[in-house]
Amino acid sequence: MKNLRTEIIKYSRMLNSKKLSALRSGNISSRYKDGFLITPSGKKYSSLKNKDIVFVPLSGKYDKRNGSPSSEWKFHQDIYINKKAAKSIVHAHSTNATAVSTHKRGIPPFHYMVAMAGGHDIRCAKYATFGTRELSKNILNALKDRKACLIANHGQIVFEENLMKAFELAEEVENLSLQYITSLKLGKPKILSLGEMKKVLSKAKNYKKG
Ligand code: 13P
Ligand code: ZN
Repeated sequence: MKNLRTEIIKYSRMLNSKKLSALRSGNISSRYKDGFLITPSGKKYSSLKNKDIVFVPLSGKYDKRNGSPSSEWKFHQDIYINKKAAKSIVHAHSTNATAVSTHKRGIPPFHYMVAMAGGHDIRCAKYATFGTRELSKNILNALKDRKACLIANHGQIVFEENLMKAFELAEEVENLSLQYITSLKLGKPKILSLGEMKKVLSKAKNYKKG
């Protein structure tokens, strides 16, 4: 448990150092026992100590004496309940993913690496106020058969089988967002066909194993 708390702090600091999320924006969690450990609400990552990481049971009935979990604990809870493969979650306000999300649009298959999010595109969840069950519902819709999505006028969220993979996927989503914005500057990019993306999706499984 000490190690998991330390790992969550390590990756939350990397949100800052890798420029994925400034100061205290975004949040990180990992499944633990019958719930999950999550970053606290509104604390700068640079100041975090192990005791600041909060345990939230899947029931959502957390012990308030252990501090305040991220204001977004509800979407972490709903992802862990609904996605058995989710072991870690990274939510970030990364600049380029957020910029695309403010157009309330996702990322089409303009590049084959879009498949890393699990399908032929990366959707954008509908906007709802942060911290609400409505936002959580919108995110689950956008995550159907996917491991990542943008969140309208907000940022991005990903889940993976461990924290390292989740962090890397968040970096990939940010990188794709930058490439997509850059491509749009030249006009409308040529989009890959669904057939081509299916080929990539089956190759991607083996690529990850390798
Ligand atoms: P917390 O500090 O409460 O996790 O809020 C950050 C955030 O990104 C809200 O969407
Ligand atoms: Zn946020």
